[in-house]
This record gives sequence, C-alpha cells and structure tokens, in this order.
Amino acid sequence: MIRSAASVGMVLLLALSPVGSRMALGGGDLAIRLSSSAPSQGDPVLVRVTPAVPADSVSVRWRGRTYPLREEKDGSFLTLFGVDLLEPPGNDTLSVEARRGGAVVSRADLPVEIRERAFPVQNLTLPREMTRFDEATLARINREASALAKRFSRISSPVMWSLPFLPPVADFRPGPFGSRRVINGEPRSPHAGIDLTLPEGTPVVAISDGVVGFAGEQFFGGKSVVLDHGGGLFSVYYHLKEAAVSDGQRVARGERIGAVGMSGRATGPHLHFSVRAAGGRVDPTLVLSLPPH
Ligand SMILES: [Zn+2]
Repeated sequence: MIRSAASVGMVLLLALSPVGSRMALGGGDLAIRLSSSAPSQGDPVLVRVTPAVPADSVSVRWRGRTYPLREEKDGSFLTLFGVDLLEPPGNDTLSVEARRGGAVVSRADLPVEIRERAFPVQNLTLPREMTRFDEATLARINREASALAKRFSRISSPVMWSLPFLPPVADFRPGPFGSRRVINGEPRSPHAGIDLTLPEGTPVVAISDGVVGFAGEQFFGGKSVVLDHGGGLFSVYYHLKEAAVSDGQRVARGERIGAVGMSGRATGPHLHFSVRAAGGRVDPTLVLSLPPH
C-alpha cells in the first residue's frame, strides 16, 4: 500500500519570481512556495511548505541528501537550500515529504531549473612562492580541506537560523562572488565567498544563531570560525585577527565572534565571508537579502 504515492505531484506551487508575481500550478495537500523556481548558480532558495493535512515533520531531498524543515509559529515549515556555484545548469528535482508519527502523509516532486550565471574572471599574478607549496604544506592543505568538507556535510538539529540574516560587519560593502580565478595563467578554484576590505580589528558578528563548528588556524583561512546554524546551513569567517569564540560554543545572532585581520593567505586586512546551504556554496550577499517571512 503506497498510499502516499497518490499525492505525488498534487501540489500547489506558488513560485515567487524576482518581481514578486505569484503563479499557482494545480492544487493538492502540500502548499509549497520557493523563493525561486529557476535559481541561478550560487543562489540560495527558501522553501516554505504548508501541509493541508496534519503533519509533524517535513523534509526536502536535494542532491541526494535529506534536510529537515523547521516548523514556524503559523504551522508552515521552512528551509533553505543552495545551488552550488559550480552546479551544472539544467533541470533538477526537489522532493518534499511530510510525515506524521513517522509515516509519510504526503509527498511532492518539484522541478527546479538551474540557470547559468556569468561570474567575473579574475586574473592574478602572484609570486611563485605564493602558489607552489612543499610536501608538508600540501599535506596540511589537504588535511584541512577534508576536515572542512566533513564539517560541511553535517546536517545538525535543531535548525537555529532565522530570517533576516545579519551582515557579519556593520559596513557591508561586498566584493564580487564566484570569480573564476586564473593565477599566473592557470585556472584555479572559484572564489566561493566574498571579501570585505576593512580596517584590522573591525568587529565581526554572527549572521544568525548557531554553534561554533570550528574555531582554529588554517593554512589558507588563517584564524577561522565556522558557525553551524543547523539543518545544513553554515557561515564561514576567515583571516581573522582573533577568534572570540571556541569550538562547540553557542552563539546568538549579532554576537561578536572575532575581528577582521589578515591571518593566513591574505595580502591585506579583510574578511573572507562565505555561506554553505545544503552543501551549495552560495552568494552570501543574496543570503543576507532574503526577505523576512
Ligand atoms: Zn576571499
């Protein structure tokens, strides 16, 4: 008896386009609203689900992993997923499942069309010693990269973030996101965050409630803080002068977590700030401009 299969596709989809117009596609027992049904590479997407049938939990499946939604006061459920900046353009599916007492009471598959975004290309010329590393340094870089990847794969609960997010610095003037970097003529990893050039010592604050997932020293990031906001959402702060928090500590939205510096691989004082949403490296400026609900 796969009773839930009957409701597949029976869904009221209200797609909020950038101009704010609404479009209803059919009807059913799950009202699902996406902040965009055709997001671009690097876009965060808010998902709000309002079940018409009693449900005690809702989850979404995206890129092979399942993420919990948080129940809001009005009975709707909310989450955020991200389209990675290197996600290939094309058609994808977001699956939504509502449960009661552990049993699926309704499910729906939503088409998501991923659009290509034109990222700037940044040509950098750096001294050879800044781009070539000895074996011990390479081993450290790889170790830190895999520790970070493991951290970012955590889907912790409860979901602690809420809208709107707070800029990490008072004077928020972001540089470009996602620049395709070419260093000394060789293509490198894209710039998966934004840089905020500010005087050394400028306070850096948490963009939302969370738990410190990592506070420590890294080769590239220097003094680094990673906040785990729950449900697969992380914010990342690099090149700090000092970190004011430690591993496992709970932080509140707006709480000071450190100060701008130039530790690690930085040519001058700035904050490198990035956000991961459901595994996707997204444009932090777009995350900060998500509307309060
Ligand atoms: Zn940066």
